[in-house]
Amino acid sequence: MNNDSISRGPVDQQSQNEGFRLRAKDMKTARMESTGPRRLIACHECGSVHAIAGLPVDRVAHCRTCDSPLTSGKRSEPESLLAIYLAAAVLVVVAHSFPIMGLDIQGKTQTATLVTGPAMLIQQGMWPLGLLVVIVVSVIPSLRILSNILILGPITIGRRPWAGAWLMRLGGSLKPWSMMEIMLLGLIVAYVKLIDLASVQLGLSLYAFVGVILLLLLADLITEPAVIWDKIRARPPLSLAAGQPLLACHACGQVDVAPAGAQHGVACSRCGASLHRRKPNSLARTWALLLAATIFYIPANLLPVMTVTYLGNSEPDTILSGVKSLLAAGMFPVALLVFFASILVPVLKLCGLVWLLLSVQFKSRQRLRQRTKIYRIIEGVGRWSMVDIFMISILVALVELGALARIDPGPGALAFAAVVILTMLGSASFDPKLMWDVEEDGRERTRNWRV
Ligand SMILES: [Zn+2]
Ligand SMILES: [Zn+2]
Repeated sequence: MNNDSISRGPVDQQSQNEGFRLRAKDMKTARMESTGPRRLIACHECGSVHAIAGLPVDRVAHCRTCDSPLTSGKRSEPESLLAIYLAAAVLVVVAHSFPIMGLDIQGKTQTATLVTGPAMLIQQGMWPLGLLVVIVVSVIPSLRILSNILILGPITIGRRPWAGAWLMRLGGSLKPWSMMEIMLLGLIVAYVKLIDLASVQLGLSLYAFVGVILLLLLADLITEPAVIWDKIRARPPLSLAAGQPLLACHACGQVDVAPAGAQHGVACSRCGASLHRRKPNSLARTWALLLAATIFYIPANLLPVMTVTYLGNSEPDTILSGVKSLLAAGMFPVALLVFFASILVPVLKLCGLVWLLLSVQFKSRQRLRQRTKIYRIIEGVGRWSMVDIFMISILVALVELGALARIDPGPGALAFAAVVILTMLGSASFDPKLMWDVEEDGRERTRNWRV
């Protein structure tokens, strides 16, 4: 896109006057350093449209209206990213080939790989739980790595990747469901629980597993998806006239002029994703998912999530009794972690989303920025509640020593996993732009363009 293509529109004039907001202290310097043609970026959270030029490498541009991060100056060098993903691919294979942990109780030894736990859950009739663990810990991270290699490989040799736009969209939608780092936390909790009972060995796979997590973290740190999108397919130029309605693509960020009367169902001119002004049926869907999550929350807390059998004595454990026994054993940091992830986060998430929904339905104009920030936190934190499920999957695999000691999964674990998944889907189906729609005819409308 060249500068002329947007210079006729009021967006550019307005941004020339106001500039874009940078969180860095030296806003002035950063603005002077910014280079290249300006391009339109719509805020995912509030819908404000900004015209932003190239940013310095260490800068993040934030939305003027709601303060959410919009885009960064990260260079996303395809060669470095490809090397990281190739190394991660090798380590993923190693992580799945050897035991991740081993357990010794009175001369009896049991080892477990990453897939032993899910396989045993499936054998014991808990197949939804087993499938869920294997999908979010093994399948989705592997697919993310593979799709990035398929995108970056051709780019590094100057070719256009095959089905690049589709692969980028796939990678973007899989990202929140890739939960290796949460599994690592589950492994740590399981280790702390077992270390008093028996001698626990860490397997070779654990080191490879940690390696994959660090590599994916590094890749995320140096990637700005907009740069990769531009390499896959350059943005078609957009000519704007005053007052034209705009639509932004949630997948690739392309801002398009909306055809007259279109609310949703139009395809993105760059990546083909279906464009919609607001997420379809956002309020009804979010309410339904939250209601279902609330119903599952009751058995999740009342029913045992696992049963521990030690020397013939069976003791069912609910989430709360698990925290209590950790406290009784003096393991305060882990008790706090499990309490936070498994008890506090789901409740806060449910209450927070209900509050956001009510604020939209009552057309509240209060604290829009804070509410947007709370939505971002809810969206990011919810997945960490899976810690308990992952801990159970590793305990079930390791503590399988016949009459001596065994741990069986309980029906509460199934209900708890349903709560986590339903609240994650609930926060994904909520559209934060709905909160900002109350400002449509007021102050914000005159100041900013929105999608
Ligand atoms: Zn915004
Ligand atoms: Zn798109």
